[in-house]
Amino acid sequence: MSSSATPATVAEIALPTRVADGFDYLIPAGLAHELLPGCRVEVGFGHRRMIGVVTALKSGSDHPAERLKTIERIIDSQPVIDAALMQLLRRAAGYYHHPLGEVIFTALPRRLREGGEAVASPIEVWRPTTGDDQQQTLRRAPKQLAVLHLLQASDSGLTASEIGERIPSPHDALRALRKKGLIDKGLRKPRRATPVGAPSDQPPELTSEQRAALRTLLTDNQRFRVDLLDGVTGSGKTEVYLNLIAPLLEAGRQVLVLVPEISLTPQLRSRFEARFPGRVASYHSGLNDGERMAVWRGCADGETGIVLGTRSAVFLPLTRPGAIIVDEEHDPSLKQGEGFRYHARDLAIFRGQIDNCPVLLGSATPSLETLANVERGRYGCVRLTTRAGNARPPTLHLVNLRRQQLLGGLSALLVEKMREHLANGRQVLLFINRRGYAPALLCHECGYLVDCLRCNAHMTWHATSNALRCHHCGHSSRPPPRCPACGHKALHPVGVGTQKIEDVVAECFPEHPTIRIDRDSMDRKHALEEALRDVRDGRYDIIIGTQMLAKGHDFPNITLVGMIDVDQGLFSSDYHATERVAQQILQVSGRAGRGAHAGEVVIQTTQPEHPLLQALLQQDYGAVTPALLEERRLGLWPPYRHIALFRASAHKAADASGCLDDIRALAEQLGEAALEILGPAPAPLERRAGRFRFQLILRSPSRGTLHACLDQLMPRIGKLKSARKARWSLDVDPADLG
Ligand code: ADP
Ligand code: ZN
Repeated sequence: MSSSATPATVAEIALPTRVADGFDYLIPAGLAHELLPGCRVEVGFGHRRMIGVVTALKSGSDHPAERLKTIERIIDSQPVIDAALMQLLRRAAGYYHHPLGEVIFTALPRRLREGGEAVASPIEVWRPTTGDDQQQTLRRAPKQLAVLHLLQASDSGLTASEIGERIPSPHDALRALRKKGLIDKGLRKPRRATPVGAPSDQPPELTSEQRAALRTLLTDNQRFRVDLLDGVTGSGKTEVYLNLIAPLLEAGRQVLVLVPEISLTPQLRSRFEARFPGRVASYHSGLNDGERMAVWRGCADGETGIVLGTRSAVFLPLTRPGAIIVDEEHDPSLKQGEGFRYHARDLAIFRGQIDNCPVLLGSATPSLETLANVERGRYGCVRLTTRAGNARPPTLHLVNLRRQQLLGGLSALLVEKMREHLANGRQVLLFINRRGYAPALLCHECGYLVDCLRCNAHMTWHATSNALRCHHCGHSSRPPPRCPACGHKALHPVGVGTQKIEDVVAECFPEHPTIRIDRDSMDRKHALEEALRDVRDGRYDIIIGTQMLAKGHDFPNITLVGMIDVDQGLFSSDYHATERVAQQILQVSGRAGRGAHAGEVVIQTTQPEHPLLQALLQQDYGAVTPALLEERRLGLWPPYRHIALFRASAHKAADASGCLDDIRALAEQLGEAALEILGPAPAPLERRAGRFRFQLILRSPSRGTLHACLDQLMPRIGKLKSARKARWSLDVDPADLG
């Protein structure tokens, strides 16, 4: 850091590169006082010009001064990353062992990464030159009078298009008014268009559980603390969030709300907007660069009261953070799956610590990690055990698929229940987590299955496009006319996907409008948003969907949920699998009967006696979690151990495993007794897109030990020859072992 005694001459600059953490550059003569940490600069790097962010100012460098380049341009006069955010990013870089430069650049919207203006330029507006009523002068020009009155009523002037929203085609009137000297052009500080207004919804009277939860959460909430809001689906968690936020907004604080899925933002946003009009912004991958930039600015200048966003919103600048809420905290989508693999919930907790504000984690099915933290007394916990309003919990039925004649994947019981609910005018949701028509194409003569040439996986048959597609690498081909192995005429689809269910439903229930919601049918922008709205408006009776539909959505008229096949997760080698099955069943069941009508759930499985499914029949997540935690404890998995996963892939299997063999050897050299090394072993999907994939797990009962080992390992791995022959990455706290 600079001090007045020794003026800074050198700036440490983070660049978006994996090479190293910081690069020293000389500060141009006389400009030291203009440069602050967190400001962007332009520098020469190799033969390129790059944008970097100042991470520190120093009075000298370890490198000889004559070898340092000089900063070419200072972009910002004010930091784009303030001290608190910089602290968060440093901590994140340390925790995930990821280069600080890439971490910083992940945190900035693209416009800023590319050198765009951080501060919006002022916009041109019309302003009145007089406050006098010109009723007399403009007697014959009612439109001009109306425009003038509108401008007199606005405090900072209006753009022509803003005027146009109230008074159509105002241009002639504006020109005339200007000629008369009654209005003039001026500049207005940019501001979001939506005005703060009156709430449009009537808050419900809180249930006694909601009141009790709020009493706890609102006590002593001016400091860092973490609480779990453990509330069954439909118990009114959102209502608790709204009541928690109200006093904070009143006090001029900002609230960050993280959600796992972009599809959850519109519904939540409209509920927040109804309560706090004009104070809400949302931030997610569906926005274009300009929109993202506008949200970033609204947060940075404190105008946005509530920002609702997916993962990367955790990095938005907030001037006066009052609380951070993480909704559906158990959801694995909160973890970034590639590049800088951070968990937004865990960074939210770091951030709450740094900003000294409370963090609230909400879920109907909390993660085992969070439950363990509650048990250890690190997090507080408030519970909502009953559904709000009149909604009752649904009834669950397990159907044994082993002794069933299936109608294209649907059991007799499910079909019967569907008839019943549809006849009562209700909606039905059929859940199946598999896109396409059939997950495999089989030759009945010789048993040949069509596999992807580049992955060890079967090709999925898509009936609508009559194509075989690999869901792992995206490879697509026409189905072969004959069996490539024995030449037999026809190949048969086996198993069931969403398209097949769609066919069967169309056959059994032709009079009921049906919609399929999966990644194939929803690839158009806003398609999902529109589909969800149509479902809520009752345009469809039957909804067939994948996990896109499992989460957080509120469909009051869906009373029956059919889960076509829940077996997939029961036999996985990944220690997360059973937790995910339990969460998925309860989350999907939670879509049934959220309105005034009782819900039912039909779960189809070949394993009805599985203890997990039996326990879930009670619909009590709390009754299942002790067993799930025990499974983790016995298996030596998180939250009882801390793990880091190295992945490597290469076109030759030996290159991928060789890289991990060497990493293993380096880890062994550390001689750390509290570090366990598992692998290398082939990944569950051993070959994908032509690359062989292996993994290596480092495990320790002590987080500190694990990270100290990683600190020593990472620079050494960088120097390995074998690490250059494979693509390798590190995943701290992996969300899956795939
Ligand atoms: P969750 O987020 O816990 O799944 P929601 O907040 O979406 O639950 O609430 C479920 C439904 O219950 C919503 O339609 C909501 O408007 C309603 N609700 C919430 N709190 C109350 C209450 N105190 N009284 C009546 N209805 C409520
Ligand atoms: Zn493939």
